[in-house]
Amino acid sequence: MIIVKVGGSAGIDYDAVCADLAARWKAGERLVLVHGGSGETNRIAEALGHPPRFVTSPSGYTSRFTDRETLEIFEMVYCGKMNKGIVERLQRLGVNAVGLSGLDGRIFEGRHKDSVRAVENGKVKVLRGDHTGTVEKVNTELIELLLGAGYLPVLTPPAASYEGVAINVDGDRAAAALAVALKADALLLLSNVPGLLRAYPDESSLIREIPASNVEDYLEFAQDRMKKKVLGAAEAVQGGVKRVIFGDARAGQPVTAALEGAGTVVS
Ligand code: ADP
Repeated sequence: MIIVKVGGSAGIDYDAVCADLAARWKAGERLVLVHGGSGETNRIAEALGHPPRFVTSPSGYTSRFTDRETLEIFEMVYCGKMNKGIVERLQRLGVNAVGLSGLDGRIFEGRHKDSVRAVENGKVKVLRGDHTGTVEKVNTELIELLLGAGYLPVLTPPAASYEGVAINVDGDRAAAALAVALKADALLLLSNVPGLLRAYPDESSLIREIPASNVEDYLEFAQDRMKKKVLGAAEAVQGGVKRVIFGDARAGQPVTAALEGAGTVVS
């Protein structure tokens, strides 16, 4: 079983990802796809007059402050445009894909964090009304049901809180939780960079291998949202996933290339 997470940043070639996935799926590989949609969400949110607000926690992690309106825009893009766009590509390629959010059937479930600590103008503030959280439980039964019946699951945030409220969760960490829960052999985190770069944005500074025992040591090279990927990778390998690969989704055969060791391999 392989979990493929494809991001939502500019430059990602979804046609290439879907073509590669479809070929592997038809060859009999068990796969689940998780996707993001951050770039498109930012664009649509601006167009709708509700621009994104990113906040940085005191420990240096950046996240999207998700008030109710932001959550609804987020759902429009992630569960609507992005999810159906990917499902349509796979359907055209002859793969019976089913697109679901983490809210559907509580595929991704976790605790709702209503407030977030953010550093603004050098001061720590508490912001309330945040619809975010972290995935703590995965409905593997539903995923297995779909896979067993021949459907390729295409999953996306949001998740469901324990109270049944939609919460924005990090897609990389959700994919990591899924990989652990499904006892996946590999987790691929595909984005618009060759992998984890030692000196971002210098693409020749690609880190080729990271030992599973000290993934956290590499957090220092990651800025912004890349930090979540490194954290997700650490959670996956600590949870028993044998290999996590940060790969490039901009062209070629992104899934196959990553599985063959292009990118940054954590093992
Ligand atoms: P996605 O939405 O595609 O999953 P993110 O935007 O969340 O991806 O994270 C990937 C981004 O992280 C890259 O596009 C890059 O701008 C940024 N980044 C920060 N530090 C690094 C690094 N050390 N190596 C690679 N990318 C990095």
